[in-house]
Amino acid sequence: MTIGIPRALLYYKNEKLWTKFFDELGINYIISPETNKEIIENGSKYAIDETCLPIKIFLGHIDYLKDKCDCIFIPRIESDQDRETCLNFRAQYDLVKNTFRNYNLKILFYNDSGHKPQKESKAYKKLCKFLHIKKSLGKYAYYIAKQTQMYYEFFRSENQEKVLKDTKKIKVLLLAHAYNIGDKYVGEPIVNMLEKLNVQPIIAEYFDRKKCIKASKAVSKTLPWSYNQHLLGALELYKDVVDGVILITTYPCGPDSMCDEMIVRQYKDVPIITLTIDAQDATAGIETRLESFVDILNFKRNGKK
Ligand code: SF4
Repeated sequence: MTIGIPRALLYYKNEKLWTKFFDELGINYIISPETNKEIIENGSKYAIDETCLPIKIFLGHIDYLKDKCDCIFIPRIESDQDRETCLNFRAQYDLVKNTFRNYNLKILFYNDSGHKPQKESKAYKKLCKFLHIKKSLGKYAYYIAKQTQMYYEFFRSENQEKVLKDTKKIKVLLLAHAYNIGDKYVGEPIVNMLEKLNVQPIIAEYFDRKKCIKASKAVSKTLPWSYNQHLLGALELYKDVVDGVILITTYPCGPDSMCDEMIVRQYKDVPIITLTIDAQDATAGIETRLESFVDILNFKRNGKK
């Protein structure tokens, strides 16, 4: 059996957990390629206009995988820490099932719901039962995979803290969801443009999740979505050590539009710009806006370009 893993949405938050889990169990898998124009165009054909870009991208990756594997891995993740995720993460299983109903797709999933800390391990236990994997083997594979993901996140966070401390360059904090900042089509071009401008991009998503979520409570105790809490908390923690902030959002995103509005009102003294990426224009025209923003940051820091 070969499992298809779409390189989209929560793959960017769980890459090590998912791949190590299947590696430990000796299960074959393929991961769809980096997002490209064709994947987006194909995904857009399946989606209605109001669908956000990451979901269109996700559908494009499903389209790529649909005849290349025996089943597609689409977990349903309802909450993270003590908050909800965007409704799209609960709906993705049903969305794919219905959208691709003519292809008789087989879907492999785990259902991570509720707020209890052990909910994820229980969801993996059920997944192993479904795969007819011995309980002890499944438990061990989950344990190793979880540790791998945790170490990966820990070292990524430590590394970024070090860069933040050591660099003399202009530092810009990028507030973007994992599946946006990690995507070849959405986030990567922005990171590359900043590096070309001799700016150090600091990725909010890479900072310690628990620490950030805790810090976000000083700004809002009621923000409903945990992934936005993570980004907001990173801004709260690091606002005084970066030169500016870029809010990267994909059109049309309900959680981001509410959260970004709050950020702009709340952090009036921090230089902030918002970049909205959509399926048509992608990052076209963004370079000029970035150059102007970096000029302002340089001027603010040095009094000259
Ligand atoms: S948070 Fe926004 S971009 Fe992400 S899936 Fe939900 S609507 Fe789409």
